[in-house]
Amino acid sequence: MPRPRKPRRVCAQPISEVFGPLGAAVRSGGSMIAMTVEEYECLRLMDFEGLTQEECAQQMDVARTTVQRIYADARRKVAQSLVEGTPLRIQGGDYRLCSDPNGPEHCGEYCGRRRGGFGRGRGRREH
Ligand SMILES: [Zn+2]
Repeated sequence: MPRPRKPRRVCAQPISEVFGPLGAAVRSGGSMIAMTVEEYECLRLMDFEGLTQEECAQQMDVARTTVQRIYADARRKVAQSLVEGTPLRIQGGDYRLCSDPNGPEHCGEYCGRRRGGFGRGRGRREH
């Protein structure tokens, strides 16, 4: 019997739902790689913010083994998108937003970093 799963904590939705190669119009109905918001969050926390798996697991409120699986899936999808030029659509999943002011919680740590200051993430303001 599957255990009821607690929604993963996610700070914010991605800036855009769809990412893909420039110059290749995204055809509606064309094939896309489906990524969940949790997978996106995992990449953001570990590859952008520089968190360890352990820290990422705590932040998302999941087991470390779960983070490993989510992260592996996320990276495989990003790689596939880059190599094949297949657009990536990030939506859905099982998560709760902690940056939602009406939400039950606010982590206060990684919320909104994208817009204000930036932490250990690199590349965003390097022109
Ligand atoms: Zn947060």
